[in-house]
Amino acid sequence: MTAIVDLRDVSITYAGAHGPVPAVRGVTLALERGRILGLVGESGSGKSSLVSAMLALLPKSASVQGRIVLDGRDLYSLGEHERRALRGREMATVSQDPFTALNPVVRIGTQLVEFQHALPNLTKPEKLRRAGAMLERVGIADPATRLNQYPHQLSGGLRQRVAIAGALLVSPKLLIADEPTTALDATTEMEVIELIRDMRGEVDGSIVLVTHDMGVVGRLCDDVAVLYAGELVESGPVDDVLNRPRHPYTRALLACDPARIDTPSRHLPTVPGTVPSPTALPAGCIFAARCQDVMALCHEVKPLLSAAGASRVACLRVSAP
Ligand code: ADP
Ligand code: MG
Repeated sequence: MTAIVDLRDVSITYAGAHGPVPAVRGVTLALERGRILGLVGESGSGKSSLVSAMLALLPKSASVQGRIVLDGRDLYSLGEHERRALRGREMATVSQDPFTALNPVVRIGTQLVEFQHALPNLTKPEKLRRAGAMLERVGIADPATRLNQYPHQLSGGLRQRVAIAGALLVSPKLLIADEPTTALDATTEMEVIELIRDMRGEVDGSIVLVTHDMGVVGRLCDDVAVLYAGELVESGPVDDVLNRPRHPYTRALLACDPARIDTPSRHLPTVPGTVPSPTALPAGCIFAARCQDVMALCHEVKPLLSAAGASRVACLRVSAP
């Protein structure tokens, strides 16, 4: 397998009002072609920072250390201009609220044409025809009518379908969906998850799904990466991680999802305690304060991510230092 995105020891630091905020630290992860990665972790664990770094969409206050290699090119050694060109051509994103992706005062058709700005050698009528065809592929009936409508004339589920169609129009090598179903009701959520699964063949690369929901990970993803307080604590194939979770944090996330992997659940995980702030990290293991299986050593020694079965885990219980 060849990695479409290769993250090597990636750290992301924001320049905060009271000093640097090391939001993501030392993440090494490969996204394989043709696979869907679920990126999970509580709010504040660095999921959006990490995917924004892959999309080269971080604010100016952020700096990236380490390497992010997209299909052989090191994103942060490219100039801003080349990076932006790659973003329009090879990366696409579907956000939590399709309202933020779609302009309320511009017709759907015009927006879907604009999404294709980086595609060379296509006339506007051709782009409009591609847009209509893609709407049909994502299950939207009567695309000709929809192309003429404004976002507010569509339901939330339909808007998210339009956003997915827009993302797929560029045949991206990297498609990132950051909590794409949070704003939707349970039935529509299932439909959108199924749509992403059905459309995976349109992405000649890999898909990253950011989610709170282990149920969704089980239904849709091939691999899973668990972030905690800005660090990768466990990653591996979904079959292995969901059936044999080795990190106490992964186990806690699974335990607070009553539906487990059978149905996506509406419940957000609640593990007792809170994620430490990146500006006040403890010595030793970052999860020790909330861990059910904590040992005295955990407060002193920081576990390294080590191979365990088909996965990698950072826990002293799994591999001694
Ligand atoms: P998640 O998507 O998992 O909720 P984020 O990537 O949004 O996590 O945030 C990770 C950490 O980075 C949090 O502690 C958050 O406060 C901090 N952070 C995010 N964006 C900024 C920013 N622009 N400036 C300073 N800190 C930020
Ligand atoms: Mg986020």
